This record gives sequence, C-alpha cells and structure tokens, in this order.
Amino acid sequence: MGKSRPRDKIILQSNALVTVLLLLLSFIFGINSPDSRALPPGNGEYKASPVDGELGGGLRRDPTSLRGKVILVDPGHGGANPGSRGVGPRPEKDNVLAVAWDLKGMLEYAGAKVIMTRDGDYSPGGPKADQLEARVRIANLSRGDVFVSIHNDWNKNSSLTGTTTYFYSPDGYHLGESLQRGVSQELSSRSLGVKWASYYVLRNTAMPAALVELGFLSNKREANLLSTRSYQTKAALGIYNGLVEYFSNRSR
Ligand SMILES: [Zn+2]
Repeated sequence: MGKSRPRDKIILQSNALVTVLLLLLSFIFGINSPDSRALPPGNGEYKASPVDGELGGGLRRDPTSLRGKVILVDPGHGGANPGSRGVGPRPEKDNVLAVAWDLKGMLEYAGAKVIMTRDGDYSPGGPKADQLEARVRIANLSRGDVFVSIHNDWNKNSSLTGTTTYFYSPDGYHLGESLQRGVSQELSSRSLGVKWASYYVLRNTAMPAALVELGFLSNKREANLLSTRSYQTKAALGIYNGLVEYFSNRSR
C-alpha cells in the first residue's frame, strides 16, 4: 500500500452525485465506464494482450472455472497518488497498472469479464473524488464475483522482501489464500502469508475481496524486478492462477 496511501476518510465531494449517476447509467447500458475511457497518452504500452505473445503455453488454456465470471481488477493509486516511490525506476502506480493490464488480457482470454477500477494513470472517480470510495463504488455497482486489488509494498527495513495478501472477510480469506499461493509460486518470492487487515477497499466491497502486495519497493532488488515487464507478467499470471484455483474450489 505504501506509506503515502491516504487514510480511510469520508469526504462528500460535490461531484459525487454526478459520478454515481454516470456509473448507474453506464451500468444500466452495459458499459463499463472505467474500461471504455480513452487511455491517456503514454499508456498505450499496456494495451497489448500478453496472451498472444510470450506467454503462450504458460496460460492454462481452458480454465472453465473462469468463464462468465466478473472480475474486478483494482490497480492501486494512480494520478496524483503515486503510491510508494521506493528505490526502483518506477513508482507503485505504474508497476501495478502494467500487472493489471496483463491480468485483464489473461482473464478475458479465459472467458471472464474484467472491470478495471482504473485503466490508465488517473485517479478513479476523477481528481477530486476520494480514490478509495470510487474503487468501492465501481466494484459494488458492477456486482462482480471477486475484487482483486494490486499493490507494491514498502517497509523501512530495506532488506525485507516477499509477497503478502490481505483479506477482511472470511470469503476474502479463501480468495487471498489462492492468490497468495499463485503469486508467490509464480514470482518465486518469499511468502509472507495471508493476513487480516481492515483496509477500506476490503471492508466496503460487497464481494470476496483481497489485496495483493506483490513485493517491496523499499528493497533494491525487488524494486527493480517489480518494474520489469517480465516480472509484471509473471505477477499477473500468479494472480490468474490463484483465481483459477479459487473458482475451481468453489465449484466443487
Ligand atoms: Zn499501495
């Protein structure tokens, strides 16, 4: 989440009603407003689906458990909120957006529907809205099956490395367990475990929700890895594998 993550706060913005109305309209007409937004310049690199490229055989091709599922993909931070800057070449908001785009490609390839809370470098809900409220609003209006928030971690101990997944509800725990296993296996990162946390986006989303901290931007080696495209694609594959496992277990 990073040290600069804003504390949960309730701020009634003057444009909140407009945002809700727009989201409602887009929901009624079957348009995912975050998805249909034009990408700001510079984010075109994230558009390519990794499935046709280097991933190829790495993806389980017919995970029927994902077909028709609605997956909320929530890349943390964005816009004026960079998340953790850390000691790597890119801030958290850029790293997690790239992972989210990779993940979207994989999930859609498997027949899932993906709704991203942001698909470019902007603040969900607009620059004046509370980011966290906007993420939750998008999620709850979509009636998605699961909510997956993607972050990079930070710690004052720069030697700390590894992956952690957070949950709030018992439903979220099962999702978190699958994601943690999937990501730490795919990244070959140290698993720091599945932990309970009262984060706003976990507490207020109406579906099973988990927040994955892929690794630490405070550690030089991990910060460099987290900014490379290959590591980002691996992280996405780990989340993807976790989701396949989660839905497979549920359908038994
Ligand atoms: Zn974060």
